[in-house]
Amino acid sequence: MKKAIIIGAGLGGIATALRLNKIGYDVTILEKHSTAGGRMNIIEMDGFRFDMGPSFMSMTYEFDEFFNFIGVENPVVFEELEPLYTVNFAGKSKSRKIYKDLKKLEEEFSDVETNLKEKAEKYLKRAGEFFHDTEKTVVKSNFDNKLSYILQLAKVPWKHIPYLQKTVWSEVEKTFESEELRIVFSLVAFFLGATPFQTPAIYSLLNYTEMKHNGYWRVKGGMYRLIEELLKMMKERNIKIYYNTEVTDVNYENNNVKNVVDQNGKIWEGDIFVSNADAAWFRGKYLNRKKYSEEKLDKMHWTLAPFTIYLGVKGKVNKLEHHNYFLGNNFRGYADTIFTSSIAPQKPYYYVNVLSKSDPTTAPDNHENIFILCPVPDLRYKKDWKDKDELADNIINDLSERIDYDLQKNMVVKKILSPEDWSKTLNLYKGSGLGLAHDINQVGAFRPKNKDEQLKNLYYVGASTTPGTGLPMVIISSKLVTERIFNDSTIS
Ligand SMILES: Cc1cc2nc3c(=O)[nH]c(=O)nc-3n(C[C@H](O)[C@H](O)[C@H](O)COP(=O)(O)OP(=O)(O)OC[C@H]3O[C@@H](n4cnc5c(N)ncnc54)[C@H](O)[C@@H]3O)c2cc1C
Repeated sequence: MKKAIIIGAGLGGIATALRLNKIGYDVTILEKHSTAGGRMNIIEMDGFRFDMGPSFMSMTYEFDEFFNFIGVENPVVFEELEPLYTVNFAGKSKSRKIYKDLKKLEEEFSDVETNLKEKAEKYLKRAGEFFHDTEKTVVKSNFDNKLSYILQLAKVPWKHIPYLQKTVWSEVEKTFESEELRIVFSLVAFFLGATPFQTPAIYSLLNYTEMKHNGYWRVKGGMYRLIEELLKMMKERNIKIYYNTEVTDVNYENNNVKNVVDQNGKIWEGDIFVSNADAAWFRGKYLNRKKYSEEKLDKMHWTLAPFTIYLGVKGKVNKLEHHNYFLGNNFRGYADTIFTSSIAPQKPYYYVNVLSKSDPTTAPDNHENIFILCPVPDLRYKKDWKDKDELADNIINDLSERIDYDLQKNMVVKKILSPEDWSKTLNLYKGSGLGLAHDINQVGAFRPKNKDEQLKNLYYVGASTTPGTGLPMVIISSKLVTERIFNDSTIS
């Protein structure tokens, strides 16, 4: 039986482990952290349970494909979000509910936009056409070189070309009259870890996936339930996982990796190796590739860094729903300056998720668990996060005021993770939350490949290789890398 070593137990590493086991590999995972899941992790404090990162997902059918491939029933329950989320604009007392049902959305915004349903249908139709014209041929394909990628791109109908030259913001600005709706439709860019003013218009396809196609879903009982179920499956299949084991060296000979070495000097041998650590950073750090030196990595475009707060509070907070956005009143100015600044935002924009709203068992009786995510500059721009308590207080006080609930007074537990913490805990490059950004020159064959350029038995899976970031994309990544490995094994 061939032996596979996987470096990292993020969703990408775990899904690949189960797929490789299915096609006959003996699999071992080495994980730096003390728990599995990577960014899709869990934080538990005094009876409060928090999802550490992701709180919802799209394209759940990718998970169906995955469970089908490994031959099991989906062990978790996906619950659809409707409304998708609420948006709270600074200075406006009404919290806007964002519905997938466009009739309801039209009613919600009837005071600021006319014919919303018709406008949105037109906008989403175009985004949907782009989605379906690229999903199989571009997103879900392995490319051996840039030429084959470009040839594949050339088959995409040319009517989409203008999309490449525009930004998400320019599309929403053209479609909607009200600033509020423009902002609402452009929030998808932040799900990609970037601002709508720099994100290419092609990513309005995310509006299509959220509003028309598959919608947004959460996992009943919290996102981490998925990882817990996958860990059970790994155990049943004798897939071994070693925690607190960080790979710190890669030994290779004749274009083949011989072994990897952990921080204690222990040597791990295998026939093939799959890195779930960041695909660009890993090549620079352990393989000394010049193209991925720190200087070169710093010049690449990285997604925004997360600043996250986990709050356990007494009582029920009525003015918060399951998913909520709190925005200021200077969207453009904020987006253009904050993320390359060396100081923490003074009037932060942030996202709030309350898991106990949908599953009260995740917090003690009559308490809520509140997760706050504020996108901030990464460690290239703001190196020092000693002021993290100040920024957290600033956000908590702002939220308290806007929901009319004194979170400081009712606080039972609190944990803060700055970009520095995210970077140290999971080896996220300079604290970037979603890995490499998705600019046209950083996707497809221009993204770090899932097969190493030189070492024949080294592969990559996860957010910074193809196709990209987010939970469904990482599941697709595990499929693509497994196909590569399978095809290589039938050739050799
Ligand atoms: C705050 C936040 C919120 C998010 N929200 C959402 C959301 O709502 N929906 C969504 O779809 N996506 C969301 N994402 C993105 C999503 O979490 C990621 O795209 C996905 O989890 C990445 O999975 P991965 O397997 O590629 O990498 P990771 O989860 O980063 O896993 C990589 C693993 O490798 C380990 N590792 C690294 N280096 C080494 C080494 N040298 N040796 C051993 N182990 C190593 C790390 O410790 C880690 O466990 C969010 C991300 C963040 C940060």
